[in-house]
Amino acid sequence: MGEKNTIQETVAHRFKQFLIAKRLRQTKERFAILRAIYDIEGTFTIEDLEQTMQNRRFHVSTGTLYLTTQLLVQANLLIRHPFSSTSAIFERIADDRPRSYQICNNCHLVTRIKSKELASSFDCYHPRTFSVSHRIAYVYGICAKCNRAIHKQLKLAQQTNNQDH
Ligand SMILES: [Zn+2]
Repeated sequence: MGEKNTIQETVAHRFKQFLIAKRLRQTKERFAILRAIYDIEGTFTIEDLEQTMQNRRFHVSTGTLYLTTQLLVQANLLIRHPFSSTSAIFERIADDRPRSYQICNNCHLVTRIKSKELASSFDCYHPRTFSVSHRIAYVYGICAKCNRAIHKQLKLAQQTNNQDH
């Protein structure tokens, strides 16, 4: 609980500094959205965020949600994942903990990778002239389910082909 409050305070402070630097207004909506985002574990869409705000009985327009998430991405407090999906997928940057994802090229399924090897190679990377804000790895390929479906399809095609000849 204590640790969570510290993260909330830290990100609120960073967002405040960002808004001051950009000469933007520090509205209570913007900070309420930031708080809600930092209470969501893992990835979320604008629709999920809208639901979270509704559950808190805090009314904000969808436009405000879009604009605020854009500002939070610029402020380095939120990432927008480059996943192929109908809605944008976001995730908070709670700390500098590296994260890795594997994405299926076929069905666009996204799964979190828990690999010690990937984590340790992130740990070994300390650039001297580049200040790192966050570390994310994306691995693209074909998921097990799609692989099975592709093999099945191939087998069927081969059988049909053999019957034809
Ligand atoms: Zn797949």
